[in-house]
Amino acid sequence: MIGVLAVQGGVREHERALDVCGVEHRQIRRPGQLAGINGLILPGGESTTISRLLDLGGLLQPLRQALADGMPAFGTCAGMILLATEVLDTRADAHQLGAIDITVRRNAFGRQVDSFEADLEVAGVAEAHAPMPAAFIRAPWVERVGEGVETLATVPDGPAAGAVVAVRQGTVLATSFHPEVTGDTRLHSYFAALVGDTGYTHP
Ligand code: GLN
Repeated sequence: MIGVLAVQGGVREHERALDVCGVEHRQIRRPGQLAGINGLILPGGESTTISRLLDLGGLLQPLRQALADGMPAFGTCAGMILLATEVLDTRADAHQLGAIDITVRRNAFGRQVDSFEADLEVAGVAEAHAPMPAAFIRAPWVERVGEGVETLATVPDGPAAGAVVAVRQGTVLATSFHPEVTGDTRLHSYFAALVGDTGYTHP
């Protein structure tokens, strides 16, 4: 049972991807809905809005606790921003879940181009002969990768070539892009397998 954080943003696309993978899921809007989930997806949207809604809804501390206890998580775009330990170009009052030791810059590609698609090689998920189509929408990129954080993908070419856009630290996975909007469900399958291997259940 995978929870999909549903306070704001692209919830439906993740639910559809999980349906394709045959994985059960449940929307998470309140702390009480966390009980029994085995992992959590944090969708894209607007990270400072999601941060404020998490605070108002009393979800901030329960989520921090669950992540510290080893709950697997997969954040896309705004979800990546929320999971990071450090965020550049955000509001001073934005909250972080601090589950993956990276520094991300919000709207980082905006200096070159707002939104674009790229075919990515993703380590362990999409190899060079079968790259993953990835949609970047006012996306962040990763400027610092902490010790113990694995880089899974970088932008292959163009003005942002080399930018780190997919990372994993243990049971926490984060992507700058939206794998859920291009119909490629390999990252969702990868996350579901990781959740299965972890064996976490929220109390
Ligand atoms: N730019 C958004 C933010 O900072 C993220 C965009 C997205 O999730 N597609 O929250």
